[in-house]
Amino acid sequence: MADVSMEKIVQLCKSRGFVFPSSEIYGGFAAVYDYGQLGVELANNIKSAWWKAMVQYRSDVVGLDSAIFMSPKVWEASGHVTGFSDPLAECKSCHARVRVDHLLEEIGVIADEKMSEEQINSLFTENMAKVACPKCGKHDFSPAKSFNLLVKANLGNFTNDLTREPVYLRGETCQGIYVNFANVLTSSRKRVPFGIAQIGKAFRNEITARQFVFRTREFEQMEMQYFTHPDQEMVEYERLRQLRWQYYLDLGIKAENLQWHKHENLVFYAKEAYDIEYRYPFGFTELEGVHARGDYDLTQHSKFSGTMLDYTDPVTNEKYTPHIIESSVGVGRTLLAVLVDAYTEEEVEGEVRVVLKLPKALAPMKIAVLPLSKKEELQGPANNILTSLKRNWMVDYDETQSIGKRYRRQDEIGTPYCVTVDFETLNDQAVTVRDRDTMAQERVAIVDLENYFKQKLA
Ligand SMILES: [Zn+2]
Repeated sequence: MADVSMEKIVQLCKSRGFVFPSSEIYGGFAAVYDYGQLGVELANNIKSAWWKAMVQYRSDVVGLDSAIFMSPKVWEASGHVTGFSDPLAECKSCHARVRVDHLLEEIGVIADEKMSEEQINSLFTENMAKVACPKCGKHDFSPAKSFNLLVKANLGNFTNDLTREPVYLRGETCQGIYVNFANVLTSSRKRVPFGIAQIGKAFRNEITARQFVFRTREFEQMEMQYFTHPDQEMVEYERLRQLRWQYYLDLGIKAENLQWHKHENLVFYAKEAYDIEYRYPFGFTELEGVHARGDYDLTQHSKFSGTMLDYTDPVTNEKYTPHIIESSVGVGRTLLAVLVDAYTEEEVEGEVRVVLKLPKALAPMKIAVLPLSKKEELQGPANNILTSLKRNWMVDYDETQSIGKRYRRQDEIGTPYCVTVDFETLNDQAVTVRDRDTMAQERVAIVDLENYFKQKLA
């Protein structure tokens, strides 16, 4: 059970430099967050773990980094210009704007994002007495209206004519993968089945961004699109589902905090859709989507672009449009799950010790170097150790306050090892290494430190 509250996580993130509200000195900017000095390290480690699992360790997947701006035609072809919308209603007493699908979800009624405005409104009317305004608690709302989620921009528009066709900041990274299918196929000489993976920013005009970095208007996605023969789609889909489940276990996420959720209302082209859900403090909800999308994406882009995105098997000469299975997860959602999963409070000598039991590969700082006192005779050797270890790892340095307080600070940010330089060091050329999880300490010669950590952090 995730027994940490969101308040504690948000507070830790702010006070220790994982996540800051955007533009805070200007009063903040809703639903956008900045990653601080530790957050950027954690996020980079998460992205690196994902890239290794999805690209580096595989020979059937290649990477891509497509641009945030794309031809507006892409979003027409994908259906985002007409269909990518959230149902919004207004509370008649306090005028708060609410997401109707979220209100319905809270009372167990599912309003799928692909439902028409009419369908959602009939569900909404039926259940209006049961849903309350989150602001004032009343039960009287305007009808739901669809609000498109794409974020518009004026890139390349050098007139003041706002009626010109807008361009969009991409609403998802996978469209960049679909439109590069032929480029990658030709230049990489891959054969179906193969995949293209991408990590990058995406933007959505979410009406009610919720739960800290869980749902934000600017966010980063990690997506892998896998192209298969139509007959192999479901076989590969099952395989991908197993791989993605195992990925989270390998990442160090506790199995009891994960579950599968099967989508009941599928979009018309989808074969099957599952989410991997994580037990956040606000309940089990989507961490990753693993979906079988059929041939919809390549067919749409073939139709709209006039370029046939099909594949001819070099052995059988069979020509077909590959079907796509996808794995899609947010960096922010993963980061939040990782923090919640790692957060631990222990009682040590009558005091509460907060420890982030992060997997070593994800920890922002791997080692902290702590001279026992600020005396110059200790600063010299401590700095030499810092400089030498920094060549291999992110290493923190802290010489303020008592050693006990400094250990607690490192525990709180998940640093696996602390190296203490004390007066004995001057005689024995050795340091004390403390383990975050067991708090056990051992004496290690300075000359052996690099190899010691190479083993411990392998
Ligand atoms: Zn209200």
